Amino acid sequence: GFKCGIVGLPNVGKSTLFNALTQTAAAQAANYPFCTIEPNVGEVAVPEPRLFKLAEIAGSANIIPARMSFVDIAGLVKGASQGEGLGNQFLANIREVDAVVYVLRCFEDEDVTHVSGKVDPLDDFETVETELMLADMESLEKRRANAEKKAKSGDKDAKAQIGLIDLALEQLQDGRPARHAEVPKDERREWRMLQLLTSKPVLFVANVDEESAADGNAYSRQVQERAAQEGAACVVISAKIEAELALLDAGEREEYLESLGLEEPGLNRLIHTGYELLDLQTYFTAGPKEARAWTIRKGWSAPRAAGVIHGDFEKGFIRAETIAFDDYIAQGGESGAREAGKLRQEGKEYIVQDGDVMMFKFNV
Ligand code: GDP
Repeated sequence: GFKCGIVGLPNVGKSTLFNALTQTAAAQAANYPFCTIEPNVGEVAVPEPRLFKLAEIAGSANIIPARMSFVDIAGLVKGASQGEGLGNQFLANIREVDAVVYVLRCFEDEDVTHVSGKVDPLDDFETVETELMLADMESLEKRRANAEKKAKSGDKDAKAQIGLIDLALEQLQDGRPARHAEVPKDERREWRMLQLLTSKPVLFVANVDEESAADGNAYSRQVQERAAQEGAACVVISAKIEAELALLDAGEREEYLESLGLEEPGLNRLIHTGYELLDLQTYFTAGPKEARAWTIRKGWSAPRAAGVIHGDFEKGFIRAETIAFDDYIAQGGESGAREAGKLRQEGKEYIVQDGDVMMFKFNV
């Protein structure tokens, strides 16, 4: 599955946010199989109202939403890359994620110590990102030495790798994260294999005080501006409110949200923004047994999308029967769509569209 890593300085609200995410997931656990993986890894359901409509029409006994993981990556402080706490486990945790969520403190609270003494989300961002950049430089320099040895003994791949390593080092030494490097298209795979901490897509979470949950505040506007410059995504959230929301039942939640002037929990926006950031989309399967949402990258072909369900579906793929979500609803389900000519036969080349209801035909 896809994973987002939550990073930030201490006392900015990371755990509060993470706990809100996992409590929300736990509260939904009655509706679908839920698993806790590790203490700092939580799986959440991707909110998807379309799935409920599908299930109603298909008469599905079970509803299984798509899921996304969040990893709480604690332990980042200034000087961390110099060994003051940025352990190997920590680095491994970040290397594994598909995107990095920077939680930035945008709330004042005299009772909550700020590690640098004042609330300054952009300064915090620089501090955290600098540590990640330093860690990247250190790992690149090590790799460069290795790659050079190999290149000397005639290894062509190692030579190509040195080119990419130097490209990354140049960026980082100029004070820019690796994600801003212009990497030739045919080298993107090797680039990803460098597993740089600062080459992953980023999302900013401006964690505001309870009063600013709906409209944000001066700090969160700084963050939004910075995110816009970066071409990064930004979500304004009050972790404290999310933590409270997570403990309410559906009815109470609606009321509380309304009283705050919010249309939906911030966590939903966070999950959706993460989904967008990772270029993900959803297709559905629906039948009497279950209605289920599946996550794929945009642009995936039908066989590859089928492979998310089972490897055999991809290997033995023959064709797919596809109904667009709107057609499925308008025609009252599969047989209606079939009669109306809205059920399409698609082959190996078909690029799955968001919301497609899919049935795969395959050889075993
Ligand atoms: P972490 O170290 O980044 O994981 O931070 P925590 O989630 O443990 O939060 C540190 C403290 O800040 C806790 O006492 C939280 O209750 C408090 N906190 C987190 N978010 C908010 C917020 O939005 N408003 C206020 N007033 N306090 C918050």
